[in-house]
Amino acid sequence: MTTPNTDSQPIPAPIPKSNTERPRVLSGMRPTGRLHLGNYMGALYNWVKLQHEYECYFFIADWHALTTDYADTSKIDGNINDVLLDFLSAGLDPNLCTIFLQSEVPAHAILHVLLSNITPVTWLERVPSYKDQQEQLKEKDLATFGFLGYPLLQSADILLYKPEFVPVGQDQAAHVEITREIARRFNHIYGSRASAIKDANSDKEKLKAEISQAGAVHEILPEPKVLLTPSPKLPGIDGRKMSKSYDNTILLSEEEPAIRAKLKTMVTDPARVRRTDPGNPDVCPVFDLHKIFSTSEVQAEAAEGCRTAGIGCIQCKGWLADGVVRELAPIQERRRYFQANPGEMAAILEAGSARANVRANETMREVRSAMRLR
Ligand code: SF4
Repeated sequence: MTTPNTDSQPIPAPIPKSNTERPRVLSGMRPTGRLHLGNYMGALYNWVKLQHEYECYFFIADWHALTTDYADTSKIDGNINDVLLDFLSAGLDPNLCTIFLQSEVPAHAILHVLLSNITPVTWLERVPSYKDQQEQLKEKDLATFGFLGYPLLQSADILLYKPEFVPVGQDQAAHVEITREIARRFNHIYGSRASAIKDANSDKEKLKAEISQAGAVHEILPEPKVLLTPSPKLPGIDGRKMSKSYDNTILLSEEEPAIRAKLKTMVTDPARVRRTDPGNPDVCPVFDLHKIFSTSEVQAEAAEGCRTAGIGCIQCKGWLADGVVRELAPIQERRRYFQANPGEMAAILEAGSARANVRANETMREVRSAMRLR
């Protein structure tokens, strides 16, 4: 983890050249409010590590918030600040990675429009989350073009930066797959050698172009690969997956008394009714969190104490709370620093967005040229 940037210079230095020679990765997060332990372990924790090994672009996907929350946009602006604060608190370092806001880079919308003309509707309809989310969010009318097209906007987000890798958990690999298909289709239609064949005026020229093509298609938009990152099972207080929509989260910004109080109410092995009953840590959501936040000594002691009824659940949860509080301490220290320095936060997002615009505009020049557009 990195320490807060206490330098008096508000604008971060450009990414060092050595970083730009590393393989590039890109990932983003929708601004849905303050982030919780599930968001941290599923994404941010990995991102903080990746920034030391890759040239990283991390963005706040504010236009994606519109795909489901178009009817009430009142929280988006505040949520952008909350997510940025959590990014920086978690340890993303603007001197090691580029942090930017999607809506500050107009090329995302432009590439989305261009790609929409070559993307078959059936490709979007078959993305698993399209129907799943409509089922889950029945209270919202999601029969919109924006919601159907969000995987395409995601593809534009990715392809603009030509990343070698997109870090995702196993459950999101399908989103990268559609991006690869769209890139392949774009390259097939607009790859320079293929265009040369189409533009040939005579059969002889056509034949020459076909020979020079030799089966190859110029990769204007390289296909990104999936970088599978660990996303451990992280249960919430009620034992279901930790999620804002279940209201069962522990926030990265949660104060210690609130963390301890929440964990005290967490569900346990349902078969352990009395203090004297032995329990089974293998079926207990509290122990799933121990595996992530407690030392191996504490895990061993908790497992043994549980199986022999040597400890009660309250004691076990107290040990877990110690581990969670310890993990969050440096995050909350950075949070206090950035909360006291909102100007620095704004400058980080501005500088990151400027860097992202440079990269995105480079790709758009190639895209326009391949498509013979102005
Ligand atoms: S002692 Fe710990 S692991 Fe065992 S049931 Fe209670 S909370 Fe779960």
